[in-house]
Amino acid sequence: MQAVAAKATSSGALTPDSAGRTENPLASRASSLLPGDAKPAPCAACLERMFDPADCCWQYAFTSCRHCKNPSADSRQQLIQPCSACLRTAARQDDSRVPSSDGPCPRCGPHLDLQLGNGASIACDRHGDELHTGYAIAASLALLRNGAIIAIESESGVHLCCDARNAVAITRLRAAGLNSRPMAVMAANLASLAGELMPNASESEYLQSRTRPVLALQRHPQATLPASLAPGEEVLAVTLPFSALYYLLFHASADAPSGIAWLAQPQALLLALSTTDQEAPPAASGNSKARSTLARAADAFLIYGDS
Ligand SMILES: [Zn+2]
Ligand SMILES: [Zn+2]
Repeated sequence: MQAVAAKATSSGALTPDSAGRTENPLASRASSLLPGDAKPAPCAACLERMFDPADCCWQYAFTSCRHCKNPSADSRQQLIQPCSACLRTAARQDDSRVPSSDGPCPRCGPHLDLQLGNGASIACDRHGDELHTGYAIAASLALLRNGAIIAIESESGVHLCCDARNAVAITRLRAAGLNSRPMAVMAANLASLAGELMPNASESEYLQSRTRPVLALQRHPQATLPASLAPGEEVLAVTLPFSALYYLLFHASADAPSGIAWLAQPQALLLALSTTDQEAPPAASGNSKARSTLARAADAFLIYGDS
């Protein structure tokens, strides 16, 4: 995700900055809300695979291809011994009828593990050769719906995540004292933000770009999301899913439909994301000091397990 603050000109239009990025005057505050993952969201082909029950990457958080290069899978690529099915796919890459794929599958790639602060597994997508792809995401969603705060691993650090509609969870996260800054809201798509924010046409277009900027957008007068997401602000920082893992949380909340039609439909789930004021190293969940710090706020940790 490219962290960019949004700020509109007097005409409301977004203009590119000297680096060619679109700037918006409210953006300077939004830019520090989430770590810059410097990656595009999963490409359309990978989303189709993740949401096709017949595909080996159905509900797989590390789905990747040569076009979008999921960094969660990519950083572990050297550690991965491709399984025979992946080797067969790779051998057919010259055949234009075969979808291009450089990524692993659930059998040979990393997996998700939802753990308590003490490291005990709550739901793991893999036990030896046994695959339970989707378990960790489903269990994470159940916790979020019950007001839990989950520390979610990403390539650039850790996001503390809760239900954006749950004021109690937001207050609890604030009380942990890890981050006093505004939180960012993540929606499955633009349609899910209707009634909460008032993006203009330029902001709407930019928000949906695959670089996944964080934009600070004007709140709707009848917005229902808790003001405590951004105390004292008339704007709210918002972004769309910047990794397969977050897409899967929204997919689970939509009752895991087949196909990609749901991606264009409004989804009830809105996530609130925060980082910590402390510098949290990547894979902080595996770092005991960082983990004990995060445990002040997090009820559970959603981490990457290697194959
Ligand atoms: Zn892709
Ligand atoms: Zn494989």
